Amino acid sequence: MNDKLKFSEYKYKRINVDEMTEKMTKAIESMDSSRSKDEYLKFMKEYLKLEDHVETMFTLAKIRHALNVHDEFYEEENRFKDENSPKFKHFKNQFYMSLVNSKFKEDVVLEYGEHIINLANIFQRTYSDSIMEDLVSENKLISKYGKELTSLKMKFRGEEKNISGIFYYMSSSDRDTRIEAYKSFDEALFEKRHVFDEIFDELVKLRDSMAKKLGYENFIPLGYARMKRSDYGPKSVGEFRSHIKKYIVPLAKEIILKQAVEIEVDSIKIFDENILFKDGNAVLSLSENEIVDKATEMYDLLSKETSEFFSFMKSHELMDLKSKEGKKFGGFCTLIPDYRVPFIYGNFNGSSDDVDILTHEAGHAFQMYRSSSFDLPDYRFPTLDSCEIHSMSMEFLTYTYMEMFFKEDTHKFLYAHMSENIKFMPYAALIDDFQHFVYENPKASIEERNEYYKKKEGEYLPYRDYDGLKYFESGRFWQKQGHLFTDPMYYIDYALALVIALQLYKEFTINKETALNKYIKLCDLGGSESFLRLIESSSLMNPFEEKTFDFIVEEIKKSLTTLNKLKTN
Ligand code: ZN
Repeated sequence: MNDKLKFSEYKYKRINVDEMTEKMTKAIESMDSSRSKDEYLKFMKEYLKLEDHVETMFTLAKIRHALNVHDEFYEEENRFKDENSPKFKHFKNQFYMSLVNSKFKEDVVLEYGEHIINLANIFQRTYSDSIMEDLVSENKLISKYGKELTSLKMKFRGEEKNISGIFYYMSSSDRDTRIEAYKSFDEALFEKRHVFDEIFDELVKLRDSMAKKLGYENFIPLGYARMKRSDYGPKSVGEFRSHIKKYIVPLAKEIILKQAVEIEVDSIKIFDENILFKDGNAVLSLSENEIVDKATEMYDLLSKETSEFFSFMKSHELMDLKSKEGKKFGGFCTLIPDYRVPFIYGNFNGSSDDVDILTHEAGHAFQMYRSSSFDLPDYRFPTLDSCEIHSMSMEFLTYTYMEMFFKEDTHKFLYAHMSENIKFMPYAALIDDFQHFVYENPKASIEERNEYYKKKEGEYLPYRDYDGLKYFESGRFWQKQGHLFTDPMYYIDYALALVIALQLYKEFTINKETALNKYIKLCDLGGSESFLRLIESSSLMNPFEEKTFDFIVEEIKKSLTTLNKLKTN
């Protein structure tokens, strides 16, 4: 494709589903009737090109609709995408079926590596026509959860607030305001508790029954397959959680104790947890353009690879970061396959989060940019555990340059970033532990589930104090964690990625070049290997091994102590 074109020049044309169905069917039939390996590989590429084109049109519709929800044309095209994209899953399945059963399977492996067969096998383990209806019901329950959550209304100081409205007051620097906001949030959730209990209960039973139809004992192996995990299982994840308990929970406890001294309260309650400094968080006083200018300078300094990447993103209009009227809330990074370019979508709000969002999404984009040349779409992104390494590492690898954005508040920003990440790890482990219990015990009652959560919360978050808030005290904090509803067995991925990102951070403080080379190597490999293979190929340490925790913990302690001293200077 023409790499001179900018985002605004990418042409959108609605996919003709009948025509595409015919072409894809023909490509897959031709693969099946190929008489030589060259013929087989040629038709494979033909099919992949079609898949890329469909994905490109759907992605353009999605981005352009999100950029301006008032644009009626893209609103209609986005609806068309939602309705039609599931149809193409069928072809993906056919494509993989052809691969696994082909007499040219070994030739395909020679061309693409062993991992393509892994992916084909995993895909087939997650799907059969017998669960088609169940998948539709699952989606319905997921959207019901989303609707209930967004329609949540609470009364606050005589006004009605929705979730994002109340969040603002929940992080106020005034403690009484926070307490009041938490109370109204707790009240609203308490009213709805049975609704959330029941949606989740239905989801658990449905997922369990799908797993049984596919021949599994319970949902866990299916959940792992849906996450495309091919080289680790629940046992390793269980050990990983116990390492978090042993190494990270004590660090998080210490952070919480220091926090109480810093903000001058007797002990940290739930409504204090996000408040790190008595006089407020780090302040960012830069406009969107200034942030992008500083980021350009930063990526020029970091390495020639990041410099080239970032100037490409800018000159091709591949970032839209400012929040504006009519723009959908949220942030993401996605690949536009026909042009082989990433696109970063954000909603800057002027807070210090803007910098986090930019470095995080730029990490995802950098990987997509580096590995976009694979012709197999599945090789352009790895599993989510690996994807989050690209993004989280970029946050840590740019620590040295944060002064450009935060000036005298730099150490406040860095202390907050590091300590929030450390506090996050035990929570991710708790959510994961809970999911394993839930799907291993599909017959457990709603009460038993909540009791289990409460008990485990005491182990992973021993400092958590809800101060008598009745909904939260009832063991239901997890209901706010959307991943449990939308993407079961996902979440531990963030903690796995974080352990690797911290490892790279430590290496970066020792030798910048070595750390960067490992990072770039990992990004270049995209999704061409499984999680542990990718890590090994990039000379990184296995996050499941205890010695990896040993390796990172000293550095975390050191940097927290240094930052803690510096932040007040
Ligand atoms: Zn991410």
